[in-house]
Amino acid sequence: MPPPASLKQSHDAYLESACQRLGYDGSIYELLLVASREIAVELPLRRQDGSLVVYRGYRVQHHNARGPYKGGLRFHPSIDMEESRGLACLMSLKCALLDLPFGGAKGGIDCDPSSLRERELEELVRKFVQKMHRNIGPNLDIPAPDVGSDARVMAWIQDEYSKVYGYSPAVVTGKPVATGGSKGRESATGDGVGIVVECWARQRGTSLAGKSVVIQGFGNVGSHAARALAARGMRLRALSDVRGGVLADAGEGLDLEAVLAHHRKTGSVVGAPGGRPIENHELLELACDLLVPAALGGAITEDNAGRIQARAIAEAANGPVSEDADRVLCERGIPILPDILVNAGGVTVSYFEWVQNLQQLSWELEEVQSRLRARLETAAGAVFDSAGAESCSLREAAYCIATRRLKDALLSFGF
Ligand code: GLU
Repeated sequence: MPPPASLKQSHDAYLESACQRLGYDGSIYELLLVASREIAVELPLRRQDGSLVVYRGYRVQHHNARGPYKGGLRFHPSIDMEESRGLACLMSLKCALLDLPFGGAKGGIDCDPSSLRERELEELVRKFVQKMHRNIGPNLDIPAPDVGSDARVMAWIQDEYSKVYGYSPAVVTGKPVATGGSKGRESATGDGVGIVVECWARQRGTSLAGKSVVIQGFGNVGSHAARALAARGMRLRALSDVRGGVLADAGEGLDLEAVLAHHRKTGSVVGAPGGRPIENHELLELACDLLVPAALGGAITEDNAGRIQARAIAEAANGPVSEDADRVLCERGIPILPDILVNAGGVTVSYFEWVQNLQQLSWELEEVQSRLRARLETAAGAVFDSAGAESCSLREAAYCIATRRLKDALLSFGF
């Protein structure tokens, strides 16, 4: 069997089919596919044990016709230029779908942060900024956390950048509240998953209470999504992280507070009370009302798509369902709530953070949360309406709305 489609290949195929649905010619697809700028830097690090390790840093700036480039920095051995390209274009579309005044970008460093000491990681991040500072900025490109990076990393970037340009909190989002971050940013992506899934259930005339959910990934997104969905009455049938998973013993599901306490103590959900161990690949194939892949891309491929027993999928990660799997799942009638909608809560609150920084304001949590809800409900409503009117999948509808907005902005500037 050929290898499963990569995140970039899957994303390109989704974009191409959106361009075809919209009747755009091949040159528009090409225009949207190719990024404005791609940067790669060498990051040599002298480790504390004396060894020298050479890391690579990347930033792909997809398009900025709708606003400054915006997107996360991923710290993971798998990040490279090709993956950054796919993820950067995904960010352009996500921002367009939410009607945020941003373009898209993505990048990162090909390191495993868990294998580095904090001082080493800090040095690596500061070196990255030293090489990249001319290409980022509050009106140019605004990084944020992604897989493997967090508020602490954003604070180092903010500090290193501010050494050259003066106090510049708006150069990054997702930074600590203490250094100008927004209240509600930390949980925003997971909160957004709850809001979008709730909207979808409402639109189908059903409620989430008592329905079962399986979540793959227990990092920032997965853990906050678990909280948001449990708060809406969903039963947590199984949860997992990189080390493995836990499957609830009883029908009422896992007790999230007990899992969180266990996770704080051990760093993993494996062995959490009230459940038994389960492998990550088995977890994806459990029968449940909703499956939430919230880890890396490519969790569901043609290989396992035929065995998925979930009644619906909400993509909390970026690109968790490959394009060939998407086709299988569509044929099997399993609806997929697409990543550019489901996980857009993060960049939406990033936008609020940037707005607050530019105006030297600090909004209360309630204000952030009600604005987040309004933005996501509007975008979700547009996707659901368009999928109904056009008789297409939710992903096709979301991609078409976003692609049209992006193309309108790009062509307005002329060529
Ligand atoms: N990394 C997140 C994403 O993929 C957030 C990006 C941001 O806030 O700029 O959407």
